[in-house]
Amino acid sequence: MSLPTDEERGNDRVGPHIDKLVDWLKIPYNSTQFEASNPRWADAIQTVERLQRQIEDYINREVLSKMSWSELVPLVQALCTLCFQDKFMKQVHNWDFGWLVRARPEEVQEGEDAEYELIFGWMHLNHTDGKTTLRLHSHAQFHPNAIGLLGTMLHEMVHVFIYNCRKVGELDVRTSQNDAAYSVFDKLDGQTGHGYYFLRLAREVETRFNEIFSLKSIDLGRFEAADYECQETGNLSDMAYFTQMFGDNSPGQEFAARIVWAGIKQRHRERPNPERQATVVNPDEIDLSLEDNEDATAGVERIGSSSAKRVVPRSNA
Ligand SMILES: [Zn+2]
Repeated sequence: MSLPTDEERGNDRVGPHIDKLVDWLKIPYNSTQFEASNPRWADAIQTVERLQRQIEDYINREVLSKMSWSELVPLVQALCTLCFQDKFMKQVHNWDFGWLVRARPEEVQEGEDAEYELIFGWMHLNHTDGKTTLRLHSHAQFHPNAIGLLGTMLHEMVHVFIYNCRKVGELDVRTSQNDAAYSVFDKLDGQTGHGYYFLRLAREVETRFNEIFSLKSIDLGRFEAADYECQETGNLSDMAYFTQMFGDNSPGQEFAARIVWAGIKQRHRERPNPERQATVVNPDEIDLSLEDNEDATAGVERIGSSSAKRVVPRSNA
């Protein structure tokens, strides 16, 4: 993970879509102006507030998984209006939605993939038919309140936006025509989908949502996402990357330091001989991988599911 180079920017077909959305999200929020400029705006806010109460009620009765997709569709559409400028997610009612119902870590049986089971949510965009799949965890351990669920939903929607940009940029399948652009996407999306694109957009979505609803608390799991990406790739990015991704007015430097710490810790726990086959791309970048597992056949596979805020393994609960 590192910031895009000038050459990469020149071949980037997804970044310009994200740039445009980020520019819009950075416009200081003024409810009167936003309402005046978008006839759907006021309705969208009311929808989120109404469904927030409804979700809270389901959670209190511990029957969140009984909430139907038809009840949630207006919420996703409203979030699309408020945070994504109604781009790329118009067919929300066609999404394949389901609740994840695995209750708690101790219920995962031996041999089961706990990391896969114990996620807050995941999404998938099928590049052939464009079908979007969304799964959200229904247990209160993962979503103890409506704001927690909204955070996961927005997290997954950031992925949906990015993979729709990928589709628009005709990067679903690697060809001789899109080779350079494909490589740029691969790098900036990251191995787990929580690379530069995700972190950049998720921060602005988080800020906008908090502004609209006068909150400080919506959490898209940006730190966990960056940490996950670090651990999966074995690459600990340089501080310039973290500073740009996290270094805003909030205690970003502290987050950056925590990510570095987590990566270093991982190195000592799982990589007893980190020098072996180390491939240091950036002199400030610490490579933690044992092997370079770049998939040469990438491009024909479907876009992988991406976990949201992973809770296993976490030792600093
Ligand atoms: Zn994710």
